[in-house]
Amino acid sequence: MNTEIFKTKLEEEKKLIEEELGDIGRIDTSTGEWEATPESQSSPEADTNDLSDRTEDYEERSATMSTLNSRLEDVDLALDKIKNGNYGICESCGKEIEEERLKANASARTCTECMNK
Ligand SMILES: [Zn+2]
Repeated sequence: MNTEIFKTKLEEEKKLIEEELGDIGRIDTSTGEWEATPESQSSPEADTNDLSDRTEDYEERSATMSTLNSRLEDVDLALDKIKNGNYGICESCGKEIEEERLKANASARTCTECMNK
């Protein structure tokens, strides 16, 4: 399998996720982990697209943040797998994940069959 295209996709996705995280949170310098920032710290000169984000309360930010964090973990894991040469192997049954599935979701950890179980 040509992992280069997936590597590029994953790196792009990682960048996007980190940008989204940067919109609603910041990295805690002591733990190195992302945390949601309180509403009051958001920039007042938000454009219209950001407005819905800005009006979300802190809990919603935290929920979004944990979703983004788990996506980021999956992406990091997939990038590790590429480095270690075991990318595209289903974590559940050990078979190769369908290339079509990886094209739709480059950080997929299981094959379609296991996902549907
Ligand atoms: Zn499987």
